[in-house]
Amino acid sequence: MIKEEIIDLLKVKPDKKIRLKDYHTGWDQTKELKAFGKKATKERANEILQKSIEELSSSQELLYADDRYSLLIVLQAMDAAGKDGTIKHVMSGLNPQGCQVFSFKKPSAEDLDHNFLWRYMKSLPERGRIGIFNRSYYEDVLVVKVHPEMIEHQKLAGEKIGKAFWQSRYEDINAFEKHLVRNGTVVLKFFLNVSKKEQKQRFMDRLERPEKNWKFSLADLNERSYWDDYVVAFEKAISATSTEWAPWFIIPADDKWATRAIVADVISSTLQKLDLRFPEMNDEQRAMLEKARKTLEAE
Ligand code: AMP
Ligand code: MG
Repeated sequence: MIKEEIIDLLKVKPDKKIRLKDYHTGWDQTKELKAFGKKATKERANEILQKSIEELSSSQELLYADDRYSLLIVLQAMDAAGKDGTIKHVMSGLNPQGCQVFSFKKPSAEDLDHNFLWRYMKSLPERGRIGIFNRSYYEDVLVVKVHPEMIEHQKLAGEKIGKAFWQSRYEDINAFEKHLVRNGTVVLKFFLNVSKKEQKQRFMDRLERPEKNWKFSLADLNERSYWDDYVVAFEKAISATSTEWAPWFIIPADDKWATRAIVADVISSTLQKLDLRFPEMNDEQRAMLEKARKTLEAE
């Protein structure tokens, strides 16, 4: 398991006004880790990832059998921060029947005809399941805030788009998440924190390696020119919506192995803290099982 001290560093306390520049994007989060060295830390991280994947697999089975809780994982990040790779690795040991991934793109005309939470509400994980939102309702206070012209498509009734408008969206999100948590959905939110320098490197990689060309998008390069606006939007959104019931974690994302190990560890230890149990049989059910056993034995 990753030390509580490191997780504590990454978990955003409620009401804390965060600045992303205060969060280091590399693997060397503490002096102790730095002294331990990159090679050793990477080996340790890979072990943690493997262990967490195994633990997640048994927790998932229990979550499914218990059938009272569900888990919603929200992933947000700048482009090329590693959302897809994180999903692929962290979820690799899960039973596909109990897991669903939704990748949210630009909203459709039907989506825009509803309130901004509608399309996400329809995709929530059922009890017993793990749901991953690859992008989420947070886009409505991120990309939409950076490009306010998008609001025009949202057909809102004459509202002024200022500070109060965004504040009301944060409040809606907090209330929505509170509703989910009260009804048995555990909510974990990860911001994969990649540096601008590393993003450039990853874009270059996509341009230079033929098998990665398909991943390159001119739109991503365009969004890069809004980097500073995104930073502010993320800082505001994370500060306003990291709550006791649905915390944000700011995950260093310049080293993919570190990102994956931390995300897997947080998810797996969260599930382990739930009071999950296999449903207990009552006397009547036990008698039925006993009868069934006798029937089979008598064959
Ligand atoms: P990708 O994840 O690379 O497939 O890109 C999906 C695109 O959809 C990104 O450019 C997002 O910013 C955009 N997108 C996702 N959700 C929303 C939203 N609620 N409003 C506007 N654009 C969105
Ligand atoms: Mg993209």
